[in-house]
Amino acid sequence: MTRILISGASIAGPALAYWLLKAGHDVTLVERAPGPRPGGQAIDIRGPALAVIAEMGLGARVAAQRTHLKGMTVLDRSGQEIERSVERTATGGPVPRLLESLDAAEDLYFGALAQVRMPSWHQGRIALLGDAAYCPSPFTGQGTSLALVGAFVLGRELARGDGDHAAAFARYEARMRPFVLVNQDLLSRDRQAPDADAVFTKAKTAIDLTDLLQEIGSA
Ligand SMILES: Cc1cc2nc3c(=O)[nH]c(=O)nc-3n(C[C@H](O)[C@H](O)[C@H](O)COP(=O)(O)OP(=O)(O)OC[C@H]3O[C@@H](n4cnc5c(N)ncnc54)[C@H](O)[C@@H]3O)c2cc1C
Repeated sequence: MTRILISGASIAGPALAYWLLKAGHDVTLVERAPGPRPGGQAIDIRGPALAVIAEMGLGARVAAQRTHLKGMTVLDRSGQEIERSVERTATGGPVPRLLESLDAAEDLYFGALAQVRMPSWHQGRIALLGDAAYCPSPFTGQGTSLALVGAFVLGRELARGDGDHAAAFARYEARMRPFVLVNQDLLSRDRQAPDADAVFTKAKTAIDLTDLLQEIGSA
């Protein structure tokens, strides 16, 4: 049994803990936040991440939490609609009105939209996972799926090996990196382009987990 420390209990950390515990490892998960954060936003789970969620036995529970988001509407204080956006199509520009509302807002989320592109995701006995390794930025809508798929691949590669964590880390990165890159590159794609739907759909399914999923089935 290998002792493994996971830092961060958001999405990638607990998902990795699940796969490592299932493989019989001794896992410690630490989190710096004092408790669950009360705010947040809907997240997307797509493509191969859905298979991972299903294998974790969470398919029905996740489906029950679906928001069925079709777009977003900005209301003024009296509840009147002032802007509406649907997926990939924004009408108008809500920024001036949003700026006007800042002083009166009771809470505010403000953060840089950035990507993380690391030359390597592992060194020695440490491996990076999820946003820490390859944040694609919220604009791609793929961060959660990449974190879940990465946790599955890393967990299974560590379970697969004979204790050779360096080889497992290398296989994890080799399988994940092309998938991550094609999704990070979505940021520079024109969402209004005629082939946008095809490009986005292809990126979101650009990894094959068949062998790893079959191993779970036969385990
Ligand atoms: C505004 C916004 C909108 C988004 N919208 C979407 C979306 O629509 N769809 C989608 O798929 N993704 C979306 N994302 C991205 C998604 O939230 C991230 O990709 C995902 O949370 C990554 O999970 P993670 O576990 O890798 O990292 P995080 O969720 O960042 O978790 C890291 C955890 O590690 C903890 N931590 C950090 N440092 C330490 C330390 N030193 N010791 C212990 N713990 C530590 C943190 O407190 C945190 O809990 C959005 C992100 C933002 C900010």
